[in-house]
Amino acid sequence: MALHIHNPYAPIEALTDGIFEAKGVQVFLKREDYSHPFISGNKWRKLKYHLIEAANQQKKQLVTFGGAYSNHLLATAAAAAKYNFSSYGFVRGEKVENPVLRLCALFGMQLHFVSRTEYQHKEALFQNHFGSNQNAFFIPEGGSGQLGEQGVSEIMQEPKMQAFDVILASVGTGGTLKGLIKGVADNNLNSKVHGIVVLKGAEKMQEEYAHFNASAYQLHFQFHGGGYAKHTAELEAFQKKFASQTGILLDLVYEAKMMWALINLVQSDYFLPGTKICALHNGGNVGILSS
Ligand SMILES: *Cc1c(COP(=O)(O)O)cnc(C)c1O
Repeated sequence: MALHIHNPYAPIEALTDGIFEAKGVQVFLKREDYSHPFISGNKWRKLKYHLIEAANQQKKQLVTFGGAYSNHLLATAAAAAKYNFSSYGFVRGEKVENPVLRLCALFGMQLHFVSRTEYQHKEALFQNHFGSNQNAFFIPEGGSGQLGEQGVSEIMQEPKMQAFDVILASVGTGGTLKGLIKGVADNNLNSKVHGIVVLKGAEKMQEEYAHFNASAYQLHFQFHGGGYAKHTAELEAFQKKFASQTGILLDLVYEAKMMWALINLVQSDYFLPGTKICALHNGGNVGILSS
C-alpha cells in the first residue's frame, strides 16, 4: 500500500539580533526542528522517500547504520514505529548505553554493535545479515543518497522559502546541502546555498559538488571548531547565551556551529546590506541531553 507522509510543521521565524540590524541584513530561522521530537529536522526530510520506497517494495523492516549518538538512527527507529515497519540498526563501535540508544530501543529498534572495521563495509553487513531476507530494506547512513536529497529538495517548493537570497545550513555528509541546492535549481530560484562544514580537513568534499553550478552554493570550512563532535569553550558559551536569549536550543555538533558561523559572517560584512537570509535549524536537540 502506498505510504502517505504529510508535510512537516516547520515554520519560518524572524531572528532579531543587534548585529543583524547594524549590518542591515534580515535573518530568519526555518524551524525544521519542530517537525517531530525524534524524527527531527533534516532526518525527517531525508527519510521520507526511503520510507515511501520501502512501502512501495512491500518491505517490512528498515535496516540502517549510525554512531552511538546518531540522530539518524533515532529518527529511523521513531519513523519505523510510526509507519508500521520494524527497524534494525548497526551501531558503530563497542556496546554502550546512552539516551539516544535507549530511545531507539524503546521505539523497537534492534541494535547490533559492530567494530569500526566491520562498520566501514555496510553493504557487506547488510548482505551477511539480510541477504536472503526479502523483507529488509537498506537505508544508507544518514538517510543520504538520491532519495534523501529528493526529500530535502522539497523544502524549496514552499513559497515562503523562495523569497530568500541566502539559504544556510550545517554540513555533515552534505546530503542536506545537496538537496537544498537541487531544490533551488528545480524551482529556478536565484538563492545561493551556503553550507557550514562541521568536519575538520573536509575540503576534498568540494569535489562532490562539481556537477552543481559553481555560483549556486558556497561551502565554508573555517567553522569546524576543532572537528566533528569537538567544540571550543567559546562555542559552548555561545550555545548558552543563544538559548537563554532566544529560547532556541542548538546542539554543539551541528547547529551551534551553523549559527555561530552565520553571526561571524554577518559581523565580517560577508553579506551585503539588504540580504535576506534563511538559516535551517535541522534538529538534533536530543544530542544535547546525551553528551
Ligand atoms: C545529520 C544532521 C546534520 C548534517 O546533515 P548532513 O545531511 O549529513 O550534512 C546537521 N544537523 C543535524 C542536527 C543533524 O542531525
